[in-house]
Amino acid sequence: MSYESWFNDFANKHRAIVEKLVNNNFTKEEIIDYFDFDNMLKKENDFCPLYKENKKCHDMEELNCYLCACPNFRFNDEGIKTYNDKKILSECEIHNGEKLLAGDKIHQDCSKCTVPHHKSYISKNFDLDWKKIMSSSNLNVT
Ligand code: SF4
Repeated sequence: MSYESWFNDFANKHRAIVEKLVNNNFTKEEIIDYFDFDNMLKKENDFCPLYKENKKCHDMEELNCYLCACPNFRFNDEGIKTYNDKKILSECEIHNGEKLLAGDKIHQDCSKCTVPHHKSYISKNFDLDWKKIMSSSNLNVT
């Protein structure tokens, strides 16, 4: 799956849940709380493939899924730039995480970074529209 397809599919799933919560008069705080991993696993089991395995993407006691993907993530399916003849398809705007080499492509590895999963970060960057928060992430030429 390309980054772009994942991005658009995820945006649709996120929007459907947020619309449901807004229609039920959830406040900003209640919406953020709803996206807590333990709650999402029970109530929105199709949102993330890891829920089916009862597995967290990061080892955190309180992990929040509202900003999965992270506003600092940048991607371009055709490549952002090249490094040693390898295409860099994704990277971190604030230079956290690590690089992952897969074949002749380099991807951003966020597995050791918890930045977007903290409630305080989500609250500071909050918008009901996930795509608006992520507006800088998609560098694909459209
Ligand atoms: S390394 Fe951390 S801050 Fe950077 S894109 Fe990944 S999750 Fe976001």
